[in-house]
Amino acid sequence: MNEITVTLPDGSTRRVPAGTTPGAVAAAISPRLAKAALAAVVDDRSVDLSFPLTEDARVRVVTPDSPEALHVYRHSTAHLLAAAVTNLFPGAQCGIGPATDDGFFYDFVVDRPFVPDDLDAIEKKMKELAAQDLPYERQMWSRDEAVRFFAEHGELLKVQLIEEKTAGQPDVSCYTIKDRDTFVDFCVGPHVPSSGRLKAFKLLSTSNAYWKGDANNQPMQRIYGTAFFSDKELQAHLQRIEEAKKRDHRKVGKDVGLFTFHPWAPGATFWLDKGTTLYNTLANYMREVLFPAGYVELKTPLIYNKALWETSGHWQHYRENMFLVSGRDGEEMAMKAMNCPGHMLVFGSEMRSYKDLPLRFHEQTPLHRNEASGVLTGLTRVRQFSQDDAHCFVTDAQIASEVGALLRLVQRVYGDFGLAYEAKLSTRPAEFLGEIATWDHAETALKQALEAAGQPYTINEGDGAFYGPKIDFDITDAIGRKWQCATIQLDYEMPQRFGLKYVGADNTEHCPIVIHRAIFGSFERFIALLIEHYAGAFPLWLAPVQVAILPIADRHLPQAQAVQARLAATGLRVQLDERQEKIGYKIREAQLQKIPYMLIVGDREAAEGTVAVRHRVSGDLGSRTVEEFISAASTEIRDKKVPEAVSA
Ligand SMILES: [Zn+2]
Ligand SMILES: [Zn+2]
Repeated sequence: MNEITVTLPDGSTRRVPAGTTPGAVAAAISPRLAKAALAAVVDDRSVDLSFPLTEDARVRVVTPDSPEALHVYRHSTAHLLAAAVTNLFPGAQCGIGPATDDGFFYDFVVDRPFVPDDLDAIEKKMKELAAQDLPYERQMWSRDEAVRFFAEHGELLKVQLIEEKTAGQPDVSCYTIKDRDTFVDFCVGPHVPSSGRLKAFKLLSTSNAYWKGDANNQPMQRIYGTAFFSDKELQAHLQRIEEAKKRDHRKVGKDVGLFTFHPWAPGATFWLDKGTTLYNTLANYMREVLFPAGYVELKTPLIYNKALWETSGHWQHYRENMFLVSGRDGEEMAMKAMNCPGHMLVFGSEMRSYKDLPLRFHEQTPLHRNEASGVLTGLTRVRQFSQDDAHCFVTDAQIASEVGALLRLVQRVYGDFGLAYEAKLSTRPAEFLGEIATWDHAETALKQALEAAGQPYTINEGDGAFYGPKIDFDITDAIGRKWQCATIQLDYEMPQRFGLKYVGADNTEHCPIVIHRAIFGSFERFIALLIEHYAGAFPLWLAPVQVAILPIADRHLPQAQAVQARLAATGLRVQLDERQEKIGYKIREAQLQKIPYMLIVGDREAAEGTVAVRHRVSGDLGSRTVEEFISAASTEIRDKKVPEAVSA
């Protein structure tokens, strides 16, 4: 029999008979590895443990510690879900069932929407199938046979997938769980070897979906679930989900009265008074940060002739994401989805010299993106938003120092909010514009800037934009979720498209490089993050209402009003609770509204000219004069003190 050479990750080699499987290779290495093995990577291809090795190859066994393991495991669990659904709901048609970042889903065509009891029954059936340790087996079927089989079983979506994805192939990859009567799916794999490997999973929710995500297609029912290698990890995840629900910005935002939405303005926020206060606090904070750093603020038009978008390239590549508008003279126009093209026009509106650079344009005006209504979510997926956007026009020699300054700004801003974050440098993609030497130079400049700023980072090889490398920042919130917010993107392309020029020290014309950058990202998304991170209990400097004044009885009202006026005069955001309610009730209400300080005014306080100070978390802080309170609160605001415990 033919022998082949298998090369293991440590570089060692083994001679094995052709046809040996990665599962057998694992068993030959150690019984422990065989037990942990889930799948394998042969050369660069992910395969099942049962994949026959027919030629010399590099083989890596995938175990729970491998980076791709959870994905294979969750995708395999999605098939188990489909097996349970087709078993319990004869006639259900299967769509697709991918793994996601936190679990998996599977889409089905069924006669009626799933209800919570269905999920319990389906999960129970999945557990039964897992307990039976049924083999997942890959079978190559002739394409005609597969089409016939799925058509006969009413799985018309599978027929469609096979026809679309395997044109010209004689055979297609199908998987059975146990046998084709129990469950069969069209899939390229890989999967775990048997259902018994799936130990800890949970179905979470259902939602409406459409075949291929297109509302013109067949309506489907999606079941979401999650899976982990251990019950402990699963339970921890479920706890995080519960915690996330409590912090959900849509719920908290409503409870504390920050914003609302209306179906007549989908994806556009109605900021209520408190929300507007919070928004303006952030907007002005950003100005306070940016102006001393050499930025100027612009307000540019919201609607532009299509000529602008043709020049920027958005008309050709981005039009479907923009709101198109027609002028009354028939001009074709579009609402701006980003500020950059407008900033190019401003740059080009004057003769610029190298002495003007870096030139930094900051803008906070609204942007519109024509998102599909199905994907709109609270403040995180919207059609109208604003960014703390800026474009820095620099010379080649200024890239490193400008990016260095930007990194320090990011560090300062996230520090002020007590947010932990990490940086990722994305480098030249497979398809790119410009010269490799220019890219190498830019990437080196970014690395130097990151290192000089003491900013740890990881590299996403090949993940840059086609027009230049970029640095992205992921914030980790109080319950461990990541939010991508800040970005710093180098762009050699757009200034050229707009023919921008500056006169260099050599007295000849040069094209500037632009750095697109945002620190919050969008205000909407950043506010969603802040709400969920702080669970609605903002630090004093951000709280829309900073102080609630609570008179105990009507006779304390004049004193309470005097306190309110004094605090308001210093710029504190104050709310007076004049209602004829018991003081305990008023305190509870203020707590629910997450107001940081409560100042209680009763007989003693009225007589002494003091207030009884209560903090939302720390409770009773005792009696203070109004001036003492103002002084302490002002210090807390100035220092942007972040609460120690950020809990829901
Ligand atoms: Zn699969
Ligand atoms: Zn931009």
